[in-house]
Amino acid sequence: MPGPTIYLDHAATAPLRPEVLDAMLPLLRDGWGNPSSAHAAGRRARSALDEARERVAAVLGATAREIVFTSGGTESINLALKGAAWAGSAKGHRIVISAVEHHAVEHAARHLERFGFEVAMVPVDRYGRVDPDEVEAAITDRTVVVSVMTANNEVGTIQPIAEIGERLRRHRGVLFHTDAVQAAPWLALDVDALGVDLLSIAGHKLGGPKGVGALYVRRGTNLVAQQHGGGQERYRRAGTEDVAYATALATALDLAVAERPVVVPRVALLRDRLASAVVAQGVALTGHPTERLPNSLSVVVGGVHGAEVATALDLDGLQCSTGSACATGSDEVSHVLAAMGFPEEEARGALRLSLGRTTTDDEVDRAMAIVPTTIARIRDASAALAGDPIGVDSRTGDGYQPAAHGRSTGTDGR
Ligand code: PLP
Repeated sequence: MPGPTIYLDHAATAPLRPEVLDAMLPLLRDGWGNPSSAHAAGRRARSALDEARERVAAVLGATAREIVFTSGGTESINLALKGAAWAGSAKGHRIVISAVEHHAVEHAARHLERFGFEVAMVPVDRYGRVDPDEVEAAITDRTVVVSVMTANNEVGTIQPIAEIGERLRRHRGVLFHTDAVQAAPWLALDVDALGVDLLSIAGHKLGGPKGVGALYVRRGTNLVAQQHGGGQERYRRAGTEDVAYATALATALDLAVAERPVVVPRVALLRDRLASAVVAQGVALTGHPTERLPNSLSVVVGGVHGAEVATALDLDGLQCSTGSACATGSDEVSHVLAAMGFPEEEARGALRLSLGRTTTDDEVDRAMAIVPTTIARIRDASAALAGDPIGVDSRTGDGYQPAAHGRSTGTDGR
């Protein structure tokens, strides 16, 4: 008899933590004042908002005034990119991004092209990593902002952000933004160590609610607000602040940091165990072998479409995705895998299994049985349809081998 559903799509969103809900509920019930109001209800809300801001700042090694609360990762990123681009537009119009950015970055940059900005895309290697020297080489005296994600949402590859930050210090007037939405649950994020001016995070990847995020804005950074109205968030983001959600974000972040020393090695071990069962003839890991998020297992399955496998797995009680949740349902092949050099046919076999802090040993045991069986079944079915007795794309399979059990990866503090 099949067990309960296994959720291996934490990169899409993580379940809401009960502690976060507990922190939020009193504010929704009783602390509903407007933090801009001068009366007692307003002052109570303001004090909770101030506290949440302090807590988020402390985790990032920042000061409270450098934190802007937003409606999530996408808004933080849009404010960072568009705000920095317009603020620097008197100097130049060049934006440098990596070829594997989330669509929130890529599409925001593409939108700016319509207004005369120029977008330079830095290529990545077959593991999805940029070379810091190539990022620096893409900078001209017209460059206003550089954006490289801390860790990739599809293949989990961690970028050398501190090394890029160090190089960018030589280029005054060029702002450095990192999309740390996927990295925040797993990696220490100290804005000075990373050398970034702008950093985006989102609540729902951390066990917080959807619809809340934050943007770190280094003191003295000029940013043009992207929505106008009241003077909230020091004129950087108009609109009455959601105090309960700000508190939820702070709580989720604090819990992630406190539990990281235990959770990261445990999840990495589970991920490696699962990888050892999933990777086989015709199923190759994608992403960096060691510089990767501890929860991320991404593969390409030769000879079949990842979407078919994901759908069959769902019916078999295991929820995962083909890559980015945002691209699921579209027929577009992953731009991340394309940038890593995967031919279109191989990239169509993409499958992402992302673990989380709630993933159990038992779930991984069951997933280790379900995933290979389901892949084999889909393969046999499509081979039978095609009249091909083997059905395995022999070109796939040159990826790295899964890490040995016990090796913890992607925990180097970035
Ligand atoms: N950046 C990355 C790397 C992501 O994985 C996501 C979410 O999938 C986002 C940005 C967008 O964040 P949000 O869903 O909070 O708008």
